[in-house]
Amino acid sequence: MAAQYNGDSENGLKLPQVKFTKLFINGEFVDSVSGKTFETIDPRTGETITRVAEAVKEDIDLAVKAAREAFDNGIWPRMSGYERGRIMCKFADLIEENKEELALLESWDSGKVLSFVRLRDVRSVAKTLRYYAGAADKIHGETMKMGGELQGYTLKEPIGVVGQIIPWNYPLVMFFMKVSPALAAGCTIVIKPAEQTPLTALFVADLSKQAGIPPGVLNVVPGFGQTAGAAISSHMEIDKVAFTGSTEVGRLILQASGSSNLKPVSLELGGKSPLIICDDADLDMAVDLARLAVFTNKGEICVAGSRVFVQEGIYDEFVKRSAEKAKSWVVGDPFDPNVLQGPQVDKKQFNKILSYIEHGKREGATLLTGGKPWGEKGYYVEPTIFTDVEEDMLIAKDEIFGPVMSLMKFKTIEEAIQKANNTRYGLAAGIVTNNLNIANTVSRSIRAGVIWINCYFAFDDDIPFGGYKMSGIGRDLGLQALENYLQIKSVVTPIYDSPWL
Ligand code: ADP
Repeated sequence: MAAQYNGDSENGLKLPQVKFTKLFINGEFVDSVSGKTFETIDPRTGETITRVAEAVKEDIDLAVKAAREAFDNGIWPRMSGYERGRIMCKFADLIEENKEELALLESWDSGKVLSFVRLRDVRSVAKTLRYYAGAADKIHGETMKMGGELQGYTLKEPIGVVGQIIPWNYPLVMFFMKVSPALAAGCTIVIKPAEQTPLTALFVADLSKQAGIPPGVLNVVPGFGQTAGAAISSHMEIDKVAFTGSTEVGRLILQASGSSNLKPVSLELGGKSPLIICDDADLDMAVDLARLAVFTNKGEICVAGSRVFVQEGIYDEFVKRSAEKAKSWVVGDPFDPNVLQGPQVDKKQFNKILSYIEHGKREGATLLTGGKPWGEKGYYVEPTIFTDVEEDMLIAKDEIFGPVMSLMKFKTIEEAIQKANNTRYGLAAGIVTNNLNIANTVSRSIRAGVIWINCYFAFDDDIPFGGYKMSGIGRDLGLQALENYLQIKSVVTPIYDSPWL
């Protein structure tokens, strides 16, 4: 097992003091009403990093009260979009000023590889904030020349108090994917980070205050799903809920809305995304993409390309090269700069992945590589590839959320499309081909929210992201996401005595 890099002076790396462990409500860090706390663990060892205040219903009520006051009577929804954007840009600057501490905290709490967090996650969240900051003063309605003696126009108004519930696989990225458009729209927010990864959300809560976001606008309430999460989704004073997480919990959130105040709900849920690799593909590129598509972030990715369909002409060679390449995928301490895959987020996730791997073996798939825990402690799983996978096997149907690739063979493009669509999910899909016609046909035929041609994980703030079928409702990112946090008011006035009517 690779050495742990806690305070390792050789690499100049020192784990930070955890400064913020309380709930952030109305611009202050406060204890929970009950005084209860819960532990957040280091997935490299299973040891406790620290304890964090635990929000339950009473705390959510306080956070909603603050957000309600900030929305109904506060300055944030009423100030100019330009001014909101300016404060959001300051928030982004502060993230960049604190990027190293944020990256270390994120990696420590989640097991994500530090070099990726530094390079991608922390940089991208500052960018996301600035993207929506730039949109804050460009929110316009329309003017309508109506049929009768009337003139109408629309106003786009912030939807109100927003509840946001996010998962643990990309804690910072998810936080800013949700709060940035809501802030730009002029909403006020109660956000619950996942119980596994509360630390960076609390850290950035402090930065939001330093940036000048007024009290009550952004409230951060760590806690568990069935208590804090459920209190948000069923709250009568919350005007909208945005959620990213499992399809099972997405269903509960919709039900909670239905049985409370019918708040609109946007959901970004699970996936079982196909990656189709055609005979004409550049084989080395395809092998690299397939590996990236499912082993990145230890497979804890909703868009993981976990079903890899390879055309029969290159299938055997693809299998051979994939097995070789898997050997160079370095598992180990996420603070080690040579490592590509850290530990799974917690024991529950670790056990779940291993039990899917056992299922795959029992169902008759061939284990090409991996299949076991890695190391002596912590929640590491070897990168695992199954071949001879059949469509009706559990490993080909369920979202595993771990580093497990299922390889399947196809003959014709029609067959690949049919197999790719044979899933209840529809989040993402990839196609590797040099044939434009095949790329276009597949793109139009796959029922998924994003199609990547000769690439994977090609996210951008400008590109809407979300699912078809049971992968969700609505879109994050892009200007589209602003609409989640706006509603349209129509204003009509009569026009009398106009000679032009
Ligand atoms: P996973 O199963 O991958 O942990 P979940 O969908 O359970 O993903 O978790 C995503 C987020 O949803 C977390 O913040 C979690 O606390 C929250 N959550 C879990 N259960 C509920 C629930 N019943 N109501 C609201 N939120 C929930």
